[in-house]
Amino acid sequence: MEQVNTYDYIIAGAGCAGLSLLYHILQEPNICAKKILVIDQNLSKSNDRTWCFWENKIGPFESLVCKKWDTISIHHNKLNKELATGAYEYKMIQGIDFYNHVMNEAKQFSNITWKECRITEIDQIASIGIVHWEGGYANAPFVFSSILPIDTLYKLSQGNLEIPFLWQHFKGRLVEFETEVFKPNIARLMDFNVSQHDYTGFMYLLPLSDKKALVEYTLFSPKLLEEQEYDNEIDSYLSREYNGKQYTISHTEMGAIPMTQYLIDKSIAPVYVIGTLGNAVKASTGYAFHFIQEQTHQIANQLATGNVINTEVHTTRHSFYDGILLYILQHKKMEGKEIFARIFEKNNASTIFKFLSNTSALLEDIKIMRSLPTRIFLPAALKVLFRRA
Ligand SMILES: Cc1cc2nc3c(=O)[nH]c(=O)nc-3n(C[C@H](O)[C@H](O)[C@H](O)COP(=O)(O)OP(=O)(O)OC[C@H]3O[C@@H](n4cnc5c(N)ncnc54)[C@H](O)[C@@H]3O)c2cc1C
Repeated sequence: MEQVNTYDYIIAGAGCAGLSLLYHILQEPNICAKKILVIDQNLSKSNDRTWCFWENKIGPFESLVCKKWDTISIHHNKLNKELATGAYEYKMIQGIDFYNHVMNEAKQFSNITWKECRITEIDQIASIGIVHWEGGYANAPFVFSSILPIDTLYKLSQGNLEIPFLWQHFKGRLVEFETEVFKPNIARLMDFNVSQHDYTGFMYLLPLSDKKALVEYTLFSPKLLEEQEYDNEIDSYLSREYNGKQYTISHTEMGAIPMTQYLIDKSIAPVYVIGTLGNAVKASTGYAFHFIQEQTHQIANQLATGNVINTEVHTTRHSFYDGILLYILQHKKMEGKEIFARIFEKNNASTIFKFLSNTSALLEDIKIMRSLPTRIFLPAALKVLFRRA
């Protein structure tokens, strides 16, 4: 057995949430010198994901933003609506730039230990958390885990949960055409003129220039597709939209994000769950990057001030709306493409971004929710209220 080491904090999982927490801890003068252990099964990071989010200010990772858009668009049958983002900008960060940025900054701190191994279990004795891996373990009074039991989640999503559970699943390609085909200032958030696979499907197209774009075929549905099916959808979409012009592919990414309010795990001192495991994902949209920043910033602040750790980031009111939207989508009370098209048709981008960031005021929420027909909205709201009671 390896020697057991005791730390102030253990960060179990060094992906978006683990590294974000590390970053925010290092910004806090009171706690940046604490003894910290960071564990991940793979510390040789790759560009495995691209994060997009909106912000109405200069954020902590502004220097990493590789592209911003001031206009978003939504497409559904004859609706081709472009919306100026107003006070917000839609921003993109490459995963690898984020990982390198945080890891390079952290490597200047001698109080941080990095360990590459597969965590097998996290448990606790009294107020001490213990993280186990094959051949060793370490302990700390604060353990932060983002290790998602993905196989358990797949099984759960196929079961008969009362709480809705969809996957946001997608494959994306970074494509480049020889001629100018894209409008570089417009992020095509949702083009529903694609196969819906019986649930909600759309193409997400983010131009990096007039020739280059990240194009992702995305579904909100209970079951993932075979990889070839995402490829086929992207092929036929690009061929249809750009008249069969040839393009090259320089990068691909795939993902499946749980869209649910099912509590995968709970934060119970001294083991706190963060990121996707810690329910930071917004259940009705799959967006998480912004909420992970909020969650980990909040935790770093609580550690620095000695306050009780609270990992919750979604307000009760906004969670209620998420529950309603998810219920309508899962039970097909209205087609997803209709819901999103109505919301984007009847509201401006700033109000929608505020709503999706959980920062909208009640009157703004009412306006957004009134985009949906009462006969759909009301029974769903009652169902969710009843379930939550
Ligand atoms: C391809 C993709 C694109 C996305 N794009 C967006 C986007 O544009 N905007 C947005 O808001 N959200 C997006 N998301 C959703 C969300 O932001 C990401 O999934 C985010 O990475 C979640 O952070 P996390 O720390 O919870 O999980 P991860 O980033 O996956 O980190 C978990 C870490 O735990 C490690 N780990 C797992 N098991 C073990 C183990 N047993 N032992 C040791 N280490 C382990 C993994 O190696 C990993 O590093 C995207 C997700 C994916 C997959």
